[in-house]
Amino acid sequence: MNRHVKPPSTAHVLPAPQSLPDLSFVIAAYNEAGNISKTVERVDTQARKLVGSFEIIIVDDGSTDGTYAESKALAERYPVRALRLSRNFGKEQAMMAGLLRSVGAAVVILDADLQEPLCHLETMLKHRAEGFEMVYTVRAQRRDETWSKRAFTRAFYAMLNIGSETAIPANARDFRLMDRRVVNALCALPERNRFMKGLYGWVGFRSKAIPIDLEQREDGISKFGFRGLFKLGLTGLTAFTAWPLRIWTSIGISIAACSILYGLWIALRTLVFGIAVPGWSTLVVAITLLGGVQLISIGVLGEYLSRVFTEVKGRPGFIVAEDHSIKSE
Ligand code: UDP
Ligand code: MG
Repeated sequence: MNRHVKPPSTAHVLPAPQSLPDLSFVIAAYNEAGNISKTVERVDTQARKLVGSFEIIIVDDGSTDGTYAESKALAERYPVRALRLSRNFGKEQAMMAGLLRSVGAAVVILDADLQEPLCHLETMLKHRAEGFEMVYTVRAQRRDETWSKRAFTRAFYAMLNIGSETAIPANARDFRLMDRRVVNALCALPERNRFMKGLYGWVGFRSKAIPIDLEQREDGISKFGFRGLFKLGLTGLTAFTAWPLRIWTSIGISIAACSILYGLWIALRTLVFGIAVPGWSTLVVAITLLGGVQLISIGVLGEYLSRVFTEVKGRPGFIVAEDHSIKSE
């Protein structure tokens, strides 16, 4: 489905086809009333310098503040299209809602809090002109984060990249420019359990990374606390790895082998030294250890199964409640 394929020439068709923008900006916003106006204003200023035409799609991810009202008001002055999702579906789904409705020849995804400096847009467009279909940003450093968050992130990406089909770069941001071909490929994927940072790499295409330094959030606090990140991490692991499922075969074989050796040793000891007084502590440790290992393995199975269940139900990843743009009225 390429929206840029020109219709067959029909000389008698009178109205000129509505021209599609050169660039679409997709902004997922969750309770960003304090940021959204400034963000759109700055995007508009930058985009005017760089491209002929553009659109800004704001996806309000079920905010409880005035984000949507602000976005609608912005549509009066800027080429803004505001979408309101029926509830908070999470950033991954909000980005997809925006990507699915974007029509630009290329799309830039960015956060509503302007932590990612817009000065990189020019570099992104330059690389696109060189033939790169995806230009993504990576954090040059994470010195502003706590030691524990950095350790978790490192461990997560290490686990994610074990046996994964395509390398998922650590520190990559959602802030990126994608050619229409990449966006179409992403939109064509049927899965709902979406981990975008993995999918960007999975779809392939000629990609280029540019290092950036993040700025402080303008207003409000980060929407991703420990729980949010943990949930996203589980989505990523279950969507891109199968080793947590397979690992239990090896663990089971190792434990069984140890038990056989230990059993042989007990038999030998009994034959040579006679019957010793059995130690109940050994038994208790063995039972609880095995019980724990079995429960963990069932838990991992459950985690994957719940994702399969979600996919099978076939519910949409998000629901658009309102779609507002000046042009459509
Ligand atoms: N966001 C969203 N839905 C959510 C959480 C976040 O659309 O459920 C948006 C948020 O409004 C922001 C972007 O995702 O534009 C990144 O969120 P945030 O700045 O809180 O994350 P951080 O920069 O701390 O990773
Ligand atoms: Mg942020």
